[in-house]
Amino acid sequence: MKKILLNVCCAPDATHSINALREDGYEPETWFYNPNIHPRDEYHKRVADMEKLAAAVAVKNIPDVPYDIKEWFERCRPHANEPERGKRCEECFRMRMDKSAQAAKVSGYETFATTLTISPHKDAKLINKLGAEAAEKYGVNYLMSDFKKKDGFKKSIELSKKYGLYRQDYCGCAYSLREKLRRSNTKTNTHRSCARQSL
Ligand code: SF4
Repeated sequence: MKKILLNVCCAPDATHSINALREDGYEPETWFYNPNIHPRDEYHKRVADMEKLAAAVAVKNIPDVPYDIKEWFERCRPHANEPERGKRCEECFRMRMDKSAQAAKVSGYETFATTLTISPHKDAKLINKLGAEAAEKYGVNYLMSDFKKKDGFKKSIELSKKYGLYRQDYCGCAYSLREKLRRSNTKTNTHRSCARQSL
């Protein structure tokens, strides 16, 4: 088995990604690097879930990963009002790929990969491009992936249930949380106005 550093965006997305890598002859070691996650309580909740999954599937989960929230805001705040899949997400991916490649180099991994490509809401082509650029910058390899293929995303949902993992309902950053709250307020207000009409 070839050792690989797996950047994990969340435990649910790691479930199937770990299996897929093992099937391809890799032994992933997980690295939960997500300075995008807001607020801090949510971050710790997701860290704890990754630890829970690592214990369940006997994967080495690297402890004490930095939470560079200040740097993340400096890089992504200029794109605060971009919609999801816009420039803010590109910068967010770039930062996570860059730091993952750097961590792979410093810790002696030849190759790294990311669970980010399992999400149907994210652009796997862009993520792979940024992963390859970061790998070149630090002199390591990046494993191209599209973990959502072959029902990968569906399998991750089933596995998350099996391991009792928490599935978050927003991507992670303060801006995606704001968007989620806005959507749920709109829904509530629509229901209220419907109720008024039926009075
Ligand atoms: S929506 Fe998700 S990918 Fe986009 S900036 Fe926020 S945390 Fe990053």
